[in-house]
Amino acid sequence: MPDFLTATQKIFTGRLKRLPVVKVSIAFIIVVCASIIGLSIYQLLQARDHELDHARTDSTNLAKAMAQQAADAFDEANIVLSGTIELFQANRRNEHNNSNVQAFAEQQVRAVNQLHGVFIYGKDGEWLLSSFGQIAPGANNADREYFQFHATHASLVPRIGTAIHSRTTGEWIIPLSRRINDDNGQFLGVALATIKMSYFDRYFASFGIGDDGVIFLARADGTILARRPFAEENIGASLAKGQIFSNYLPYASSGVAMVPSILDGIMRLYGYRTVENYNVIVAAGISRRTILAEWQDSARNTYGIIFALLVVNTLFGFMLVIQLRYGVRIEADLRDTQSVLEELALKDSLTGLANRRLFEKNLELEFLRGQRGAAPLSLLMLDIDFFKSYNDHYGHVAGDACIVAVANVVKQCLRRPGDLGVRYGGEEIAILLPDTDSDGALNMAEAIRLAIYNEHLPHADNPEQVVTVSMGCHTEVPGMDVSVKGFVENADSALYLAKRTGRNRSMAL
Ligand code: GH3
Ligand code: MG
Ligand code: MG
Repeated sequence: MPDFLTATQKIFTGRLKRLPVVKVSIAFIIVVCASIIGLSIYQLLQARDHELDHARTDSTNLAKAMAQQAADAFDEANIVLSGTIELFQANRRNEHNNSNVQAFAEQQVRAVNQLHGVFIYGKDGEWLLSSFGQIAPGANNADREYFQFHATHASLVPRIGTAIHSRTTGEWIIPLSRRINDDNGQFLGVALATIKMSYFDRYFASFGIGDDGVIFLARADGTILARRPFAEENIGASLAKGQIFSNYLPYASSGVAMVPSILDGIMRLYGYRTVENYNVIVAAGISRRTILAEWQDSARNTYGIIFALLVVNTLFGFMLVIQLRYGVRIEADLRDTQSVLEELALKDSLTGLANRRLFEKNLELEFLRGQRGAAPLSLLMLDIDFFKSYNDHYGHVAGDACIVAVANVVKQCLRRPGDLGVRYGGEEIAILLPDTDSDGALNMAEAIRLAIYNEHLPHADNPEQVVTVSMGCHTEVPGMDVSVKGFVENADSALYLAKRTGRNRSMAL
């Protein structure tokens, strides 16, 4: 772009900082997509935590209710056992037979729902009493785990043994047993109350724990006493190596834990609790899959919506970016066109010098600038000598070429960016020299005049036989008292003086 356009461009088009609109739009679309994804994930995680919190409360409450039920069941059985032992001991001391104990036991088994039977065994395991009545000859329970325990342990506290098949009825029972001592503290036998496993099964079945849910009752050593869903092979299995028994129960007698089952590997949220006095644990586990099933459904829907949103957003963004790119390209084209038009509007088509319009604008600006900065401003006026004759001699086309040749020499002589060469009239050229005093202006005028002379462009009707020019110079420090018009007129007058005094010279006024 030519220098002479720069000043005007600064004023009339301005240099506003523009954002790279395509990049900003792409960034915006990415931010929107990322926000949609981020917010949705956050919301989904919140919802999941909420579900898990709920399940934690449910499991805790479930474990509490089960512990209460188990404690009640064992307490009732223990009371029956206490009464049975008391009667048995009284009979023994008074050497009465046990028919009253028998009646008491039978009546209690009928009355207490969960009781399966009440028994007393002698110190060698022989059956002394059964709430079922008849005792088979030679029946002996010395092989039972609970019997061997009491025979070898002095403690009189009730004990829950491992679940067993009843020898009387064949059904699954949980033994609650106590040691019986004689008056000297010697082992006299074992009293046993058996509790129906089905009692717990029925109770467990009353809770909604989902398809993969588990409820169990186990001894503190991890041996399963009852479990829902019921599977024969699980009864008596050990959970001791499971995470609840190895990682949680040693530190807290109750709590909640999300752990995989050692029996089936399913991840469940377990509420667990120790039943006081009986060394028994109850636990209810709801599978993670069940807990999160609803959440997963809604998450799937949310994913669908997010996906659709992202697709729409991306498509829309893609279209927007294409449109913006198109707009940016059109804008650039327009800018180019505008600068070409501006150039055309301010440039002389024959010589490529500035035209009068640009000259007048620059002159105004230089006057404004000069008034503020008090710098001298010079104007040179150039006119080709005997040009009418040149045209007459060489023709109009050659005349134009001569004007172009002179203009080119002028252009070459202008070195400073602020200097402006203008085609002022037909074969007249004005040269505006900012920040140039009268000496400098005259030097420049002479330099131009001599440079044109030295081109030796033939001119038959010029006394010098070559094309010569006359130069008028005028210098002014622009101020309130100086008009633009007067300034130009003075330069014109100086040119006139140069013509009058012989041509091919520079005169200053
Ligand atoms: P002087 O030495 O006094 O300047 O004599 P002159 O003949 O040059 O007089 P003047 O400057 O008045 O002459 C202007 C002439 O220049 C008139 C016209 O024939 C010629 N002229 C003006 N514009 C053009 C142009 O664009 N092309 C050509 N070829 N000639 C032009
Ligand atoms: Mg003229
Ligand atoms: Mg002339």
